[in-house]
Amino acid sequence: MSRYWSRIVHSLTPYVPGEQPKISKLIKLNTNENPYGPSPKVLEAIRAEVTDSLRLYPDPNSDQLRQAIADNFEIEREQVFVGNGSDEVLAHIFQALFKHDQPLLFPDITYSFYPVYCGLYEIAYREIALRDDFSIHIDDYFQSNGGIIFPNPNAPTGRLLVLSEIERLLQKNTDSVVVVDEAYVDFGGDSAVGLINHYPNLLVTQTVSKSRSLAGLRVGYAMGQSELIEALVRVKDSFNSYPLDRLAIAGASAAFADVDYFKQTCHRVISSREALITDLEGLGFNIIPSAANFIFAAPSNISAQQLADALREHGIIIRYFNKPRIDNFLRITIGTDDENRSLVQALKSIL
Ligand SMILES: *Cc1c(COP(=O)(O)O)cnc(C)c1O
Repeated sequence: MSRYWSRIVHSLTPYVPGEQPKISKLIKLNTNENPYGPSPKVLEAIRAEVTDSLRLYPDPNSDQLRQAIADNFEIEREQVFVGNGSDEVLAHIFQALFKHDQPLLFPDITYSFYPVYCGLYEIAYREIALRDDFSIHIDDYFQSNGGIIFPNPNAPTGRLLVLSEIERLLQKNTDSVVVVDEAYVDFGGDSAVGLINHYPNLLVTQTVSKSRSLAGLRVGYAMGQSELIEALVRVKDSFNSYPLDRLAIAGASAAFADVDYFKQTCHRVISSREALITDLEGLGFNIIPSAANFIFAAPSNISAQQLADALREHGIIIRYFNKPRIDNFLRITIGTDDENRSLVQALKSIL
């Protein structure tokens, strides 16, 4: 508390990200990063950009990157918005597109940044309870609202909602913006981006942080009809008109060009996930079906918090959320096969 702070700063409850430990020996399965590095072509493109041209501002519109994304998804460049990570893109969406006369709707168990942005932008919200199996029940969203947002697959559950359900929502909900946060969609879901030309109120966000192994570069994007994109540009240009730096534009553009590498690494993560699920089920875990690069798993005979602490003693960090309904679950990022083996070994010795 400080008498120099604004009213809003006093009321903020900031987002708390997973730990980024300073000791590198830990096996880090706590923040859903990709266990494989970025494409060698991405590193090459970033190196090529390290020149005297860094004295110049970047392209304020990131046209090269927006075109690469548009080509990848077979949409128009005017239908793409980019920002410093999808977190920043989401912040602009909350400010630009969610109304204030009705509450924003999102699941009770979901990405914990959503209520934080509601606090920052003073947006009222209503949490819609997931079913007991953690699935989203679309009919519960058929009520008046100032916007709707959910990740697909959802975080931290990993559960996927099929596209036909998203389309059913869009057909009913035409007066407010529906945002599908597809941070993890490349690990087993179908993107809703193919629906943007049919639904003017649909916005799909994605990131290069997870499936393209570039969490450190900070690039995210939104795709939707140009009317929605223009609202985001208006907010961006009132905030920071050069959002992406030259290295980010070069690296992320190269990531979209190397489709083979992207497909290979996603495939490796998916097959490691299936193997890990089998191993953990053998150890008595209850696991929510996952279409993401993490699993949400409840241990038997030990509390999730105790197990998280014990794993840390073994040099493995995973994510535990001390929240109602999910406090007996652990969110475990899929690592390399070696890392997953170490996890299973540690679990065997603890349990
Ligand atoms: C990781 C994540 C993001 C943010 O990703 P950025 O690194 O900011 O691009 C957004 N939404 C969900 C659900 C996430 O898990």
